[in-house]
Amino acid sequence: MEGLVLRLIDYGESDQIAYLFLKEEGILSAIAKGIKKSKHRFPHHLEPFRIYSFKLRKKPSHDLYWIQTADQVTSFEKIMNDIRKIALGNVIFEMVMKGVREGHPHPELYTFVISLFRALEVTDNIFPLRFYAEIHTLRLLGFLPNFETCLRCRKPLRKEEDNCFDPVKGGIICPRCQGLTYKTGTIIGSEALGALQFLKKSPLHAVSRLRITENAKNAIEAFLTEFITYHLEHPIKSLSFLKEVMP
Ligand SMILES: [Zn+2]
Repeated sequence: MEGLVLRLIDYGESDQIAYLFLKEEGILSAIAKGIKKSKHRFPHHLEPFRIYSFKLRKKPSHDLYWIQTADQVTSFEKIMNDIRKIALGNVIFEMVMKGVREGHPHPELYTFVISLFRALEVTDNIFPLRFYAEIHTLRLLGFLPNFETCLRCRKPLRKEEDNCFDPVKGGIICPRCQGLTYKTGTIIGSEALGALQFLKKSPLHAVSRLRITENAKNAIEAFLTEFITYHLEHPIKSLSFLKEVMP
């Protein structure tokens, strides 16, 4: 079974409990018995940002799977050596853990996460990739924001106008529909709106060419952070760490 380790918890002196995201099976928790002692069964440590081929077993009386062997297939070294990339990867892992229920396979999301990691390995222009990752992880979890039309009148947004975010409803309100409710709302400038539209419709390989100014970056970050927090119904803790390392 091919998969990633989303999170690891030490368990006793020699065991670890791993939250796995498997390509075909989805998320499940599994115990790696004796991992800290057996070099024979576990020649590689379990770590995030590596792809493994797992052999798992489940006893009918237990909730947890047992990891019998875990052979490393690929490791994303350039992510593991860059704190900003680790922080972004952790945000994606946390979104996956909050958005996918155990035992519900999501091979499309798995494949997307792997392609993100491949892209993250070879780019230093991390911000566009970060926003791309957040938007498309949301899309695959069923929460795609609308950046094209006004949420109220449904007319196409004009970039040069003072459009306003509504993260709770998942999109943008044009100035004619803002009224008193949105008097204090965050105005999204034309560059931020253009970047969001581009990121939503572009393929992954086109993203690292995008340059985003400081203002647009702040507006997009504020919108996506609020949107993710609202729709995944929990604060994503790794988002605050990401903000610290990618100010
Ligand atoms: Zn409108």
